[in-house]
Amino acid sequence: MSKVYYFKCIKCGYETPRYIAKCPKCGGQMQVVYFRNAWKVDSKNPTIWRYKEMLPFRNIITLGEGLTPLRKINEVKTKLETRNPTGSYADRASSVILSNIEYNDIKTSYVEDFTISLAYYARSFGKRTLVNIDPENISPEDLLTLSKIGARIEFNNENSKGFPISYEDPFTIEGLKTISFELYEKMPKEDKIYIPAESGLLVYSISKGFYEIKNAMEDFREYEIVAVKLRKVQGPKIIKFARYKIKVCSVSFQEVLESMIDLAKKGISAKPLAATGYAMAKVNGDGIAIVTGARKRYTIKAKKGKIEEEITKLLSDGRKRTAYEIWQDLNAYSLKGIYKYLEAMSDYGSVCRDYELKGGRKVKIYFLC
Ligand SMILES: [Zn+2]
Repeated sequence: MSKVYYFKCIKCGYETPRYIAKCPKCGGQMQVVYFRNAWKVDSKNPTIWRYKEMLPFRNIITLGEGLTPLRKINEVKTKLETRNPTGSYADRASSVILSNIEYNDIKTSYVEDFTISLAYYARSFGKRTLVNIDPENISPEDLLTLSKIGARIEFNNENSKGFPISYEDPFTIEGLKTISFELYEKMPKEDKIYIPAESGLLVYSISKGFYEIKNAMEDFREYEIVAVKLRKVQGPKIIKFARYKIKVCSVSFQEVLESMIDLAKKGISAKPLAATGYAMAKVNGDGIAIVTGARKRYTIKAKKGKIEEEITKLLSDGRKRTAYEIWQDLNAYSLKGIYKYLEAMSDYGSVCRDYELKGGRKVKIYFLC
């Protein structure tokens, strides 16, 4: 492999060839730095791993994250991260983290979106996740989801066993930066990008991606990166270390709630923070809004019903099919019903799903695992 990198603290500049999650000198965020930036795309791969020449990995672990669509929703161009396997941008991070860290027992502290994604990915690849939770800082809905997808829960216990993984991991940045790669590859006419910002790690990662492309490509056109935070909330600190210019804007909670309604009417149940980019783009009437995540319902395994038996029987011929093809072949149920069952069956592992490119479009396919 031609790719060579090391780890560097974004705050104090401490460098090391070995993976460490936090700077031993100042406690700052570590990031991956490549000796040389290149731009090489495997256009046949419908996941973030189409950029594997620009990503770190030991053993690629993927559930089909990335290559999310750009859609116009009520005159606002959006990048729908809700289309990732767990409905969140964090899947990009989970994929890169688990492709680099080969421990079977991991432990993590609860962070919205990220923890569900990490636990879901870990379980899908036979790993166990222990989630440490502050009971006053989690929605009951997320708690139940974590437990449904097989994570072990502990309350306020920092001392349990397992390899610690946090959202602020250098591999998180590598996963999230692929959003900028996808935007650059698609070359939309808009050059302003509105990104939801809380900790600021997502905005930082996207700016890092653009910085790397800029170093690799002479024809690079500058983008305007806008971190969108909620009014009255402090601006993210990390962005002052970015090598690429980032602007900070604020929206009111009312504007965010209105945007959530807009998005919900189009079938996207975005969480409040996920809608901040959309809210700002709507106010300004330009650019691309990153919609970072939506609520997704996970199903617990129940007794196998008739539809599930028929789907299993159909797929036992080994052919991979889209939901549409399964609907056509069974010819007895509604498309929506088939889709619902397929998603539930893949959540509890009785069918597997993957993505394929069909006529340039990313489509989901199902098969028996
Ligand atoms: Zn440091």
